[in-house]
Amino acid sequence: MTQSPTRNTSVLIIGALLPGLQEKVEGQFAATRYWQLDNAQAWVSENGAGVKAVVTTGAYGLTADLLGQLPNLEAIFSFGVGYDSIPVDAAKARGIVVTNTPGVLDDCVADLALALMLDVSRRISEADRFVRAGKWLQGKFPLAVKLGGKKLGVVGLGNIGQAIAKRAEAFGMQILYHNRSRKPGVSYEYFADLDAMIDACDVLVLAVPGGKATDGLIGAGQLAKLGKTGYLINIARGTVVDQPALVAALQQGVIAGAGLDVFEKEPQVPEALLTMDNVVLLPHVGSGTHETRQAMGDLVWANIESYYQNGKKLITAV
Ligand code: NAP
Repeated sequence: MTQSPTRNTSVLIIGALLPGLQEKVEGQFAATRYWQLDNAQAWVSENGAGVKAVVTTGAYGLTADLLGQLPNLEAIFSFGVGYDSIPVDAAKARGIVVTNTPGVLDDCVADLALALMLDVSRRISEADRFVRAGKWLQGKFPLAVKLGGKKLGVVGLGNIGQAIAKRAEAFGMQILYHNRSRKPGVSYEYFADLDAMIDACDVLVLAVPGGKATDGLIGAGQLAKLGKTGYLINIARGTVVDQPALVAALQQGVIAGAGLDVFEKEPQVPEALLTMDNVVLLPHVGSGTHETRQAMGDLVWANIESYYQNGKKLITAV
């Protein structure tokens, strides 16, 4: 943006952003770093009425309580696809616009889902630990499981789900999917009934949004259906799975293994999982590449620029 009339517009940044994005926001607006405020409540009481926009991420979100203290807020710009941490309905009811960054992270998140599938089925992390511990000198590593020829059940065949399916097809997997509605123009087998799909698949990958509608979607019953040769891959949100039920299923051999990028209360990971060899644990890094994070930051900025310079038009509105 060129020298702008937005210099006095008050913008609240909830948590640290990608450095380049933060620099742009702070260079263009009267920005406040919420996470560095000594007394956030006092600041909000005094200045909340002046805040016009919030910039946040899927991880930092925006609490309903804080939203309620920003009576003149007009826009929420979020870095990330998932917006379960933002009270979108309450915002929209007040006419506040919300943007996110769909599309630009599909490849990297899908790559990571495949990495997790290959890792748990071929026991890659476990084999790496085997070599490092010097165990190869004492004997051979046990056999693993081939992905090709297996059935992949995708829960949530959206942007990321489709990118996962495309990659899994290249590995010779057969794709099944469950959404609330059938996807037009898609030839993969559709299951309106989630449990029926789980019964039919070998690997279950979760790519649905978080939030109330999917809270605990995968519980003890679904894990039992996945069965003792089945693998669960979660790159969606930790809340989609009943985490205690998952831990119990892994402890009792109800399922064969799991690849998890997300957890119920990040960065907390259940202690019991830390010593399991059939589980691969990642610190929520689905979109975590230089290229993709840059593209996400660019899209947040494109939305901000468009909103302030192009008659409040949004590029990727929620
Ligand atoms: P998307 O394009 O909106 O796709 C979501 C899919 O889920 C849609 O096909 C939708 O189909 C289906 N769905 C929604 N609610 C459902 C429900 N209650 N039951 C069954 N299916 C449902 O979203 P996306 O861009 O692929 O992203 C998906 C999610 O991935 C995000 O919301 C985010 O939580 C997660 N994510 C994780 C990472 C990471 O780093 N691990 C990175 C990015 C995103 P219907 O509407 O027909 O049901």
